[in-house]
Amino acid sequence: MKTVIIGGGIIGGAVAWRLAREGAEVTILERGQCGAEASWAAAGMIAPQAEAQGPGPFFDLCLKGRERFDAIAPGLRRDSGIDFEHGAGGILYVAFNAEEQAELQERADWQRRSGGTVVELSGKQAQELEPEVAPEVIYALHMPRDRSVDNREVTRAYIAAAKAHGAQVREQTRVEAIVADGGRAVAVKLATGERLAADVFVNAAGAWAGQIAGLEEDRVTTYPVRGQMLCFEVNRDGARPNIFSLHGYLVARRDGRLLAGSTMEEAGYDKRLTLAGIERISRGALKMMPHLGAIPFREAWAGLRPATADFLPVLGRSPSLPNVIYATGHFRSGILLSAITGEIIADLVYDRAPAIDLTAFAAERFAARTAIRALGLVRDILFRSRIDAVAQTLGVRVAYASNLEQARARCFEETPAMVFADLSDPNFPPAATVGELKRVCRDARLVGFASHIDLKALKAARDAGFDLTLSRSEFTARIPEFLR
Ligand SMILES: Cc1cc2nc3c(=O)[nH]c(=O)nc-3n(C[C@H](O)[C@H](O)[C@H](O)COP(=O)(O)OP(=O)(O)OC[C@H]3O[C@@H](n4cnc5c(N)ncnc54)[C@H](O)[C@@H]3O)c2cc1C
Repeated sequence: MKTVIIGGGIIGGAVAWRLAREGAEVTILERGQCGAEASWAAAGMIAPQAEAQGPGPFFDLCLKGRERFDAIAPGLRRDSGIDFEHGAGGILYVAFNAEEQAELQERADWQRRSGGTVVELSGKQAQELEPEVAPEVIYALHMPRDRSVDNREVTRAYIAAAKAHGAQVREQTRVEAIVADGGRAVAVKLATGERLAADVFVNAAGAWAGQIAGLEEDRVTTYPVRGQMLCFEVNRDGARPNIFSLHGYLVARRDGRLLAGSTMEEAGYDKRLTLAGIERISRGALKMMPHLGAIPFREAWAGLRPATADFLPVLGRSPSLPNVIYATGHFRSGILLSAITGEIIADLVYDRAPAIDLTAFAAERFAARTAIRALGLVRDILFRSRIDAVAQTLGVRVAYASNLEQARARCFEETPAMVFADLSDPNFPPAATVGELKRVCRDARLVGFASHIDLKALKAARDAGFDLTLSRSEFTARIPEFLR
């Protein structure tokens, strides 16, 4: 089976290794250098429990992804000859106040019900497990099966292992378009004008996957979500847990590097660092481990997570050209999902039924859009993905806007039954928000939320005519009720 893979990141590499091992004739086409984009910038956590925002098909995929990664790790090491630090210290998810504790307790509850392994710890027990963690920690979850790897080395390993099984890799080779004939893809057209024929094509172009011409009918769009990272030099034993919190995370590498992450920003394809991003990550890192203030800074970088409108990956055939297969949109979890993506795509290439139900990840969901239930005026991308996890289990769609101009346009296009707004965000001043929305979607219910201490914003929203105002944690708890 002659297969062309567009994109030489961790996903393209994992698919290539899997297919080449099964005897396929594989060529990876990489625009720049393999493994130099999101897969290079990541923190490398194989951490479904720390990452997932709620139960449902995505959490199930992530748990399975961790299991499959653990299963393939020895073979990948053998085939590539590369050691990628498959750490075993687990993740310690810490809380600093009662609100954060309540959020983590809720996480522990649904994760236990959905097959996750999680141990609840008092602040003192958390400090015993990791003595460097801040004394202000009052509660924590230990997720012993979550782990981390050196993502740059894993990506290199997938590509090297694929090559060892005969895969060809062409770098500095940009694919412009898929060329179709009679309802099937027949070739890719390169930026040089050259055409390359194959039986199957895999679109693993990360945040750029939606830009490959010839697939417009599918309406699959991908966009970049920038994540900045800081790196320090410490002498910390890699077998200890990585630290996660609602303020960021810390991941240790065996050679003494300590990675602190990250931001979630819509900044287009711009990989530059910002002072605000650096400040936010530093503040989170110091909150989790105060002694970091005295350790040497080493370097910083940023990368572009590949996101889709609903923050779920796209794993499946193109509805318009069935011999094109999507393997993209892995957003915050591409390292974790690399092994299982390789297996799923190989199953599809060889017409086998994948072990996982792919309905939630099918490309068809973009073409056949359901009417939206709600419009969220929310810029916090992590919070958006949390809302989407609930929307996904309920089978409804939520759209988002980052400013009032976008909100107006969305209301015209999609007439939501409800609009909810993050009132702590200066982009959504209560009076202007009500004024704008009442003009374009008169019948929508307006719900505003803000931190429970932000009484000023909540009062202003009530005065401006919001139908309901409540604290952020109350809103979070009632999301299923609002979306139903
Ligand atoms: C700061 C940060 C932290 C993260 N932490 C984690 C983590 O801890 N755990 C986790 O699981 N995930 C994490 N992620 C997410 C993870 O990095 C991504 O989900 C994953 O790397 C996506 O892999 P990919 O191969 O799809 O994309 P990429 O690595 O971006 O690869 C896509 C490749 O396609 C190439 N390409 C694009 N267009 C074309 C074209 N037209 N022709 C040819 N080639 C093309 C690009 O050059 C690129 O090399 C993090 C991401 C960031 C930015």
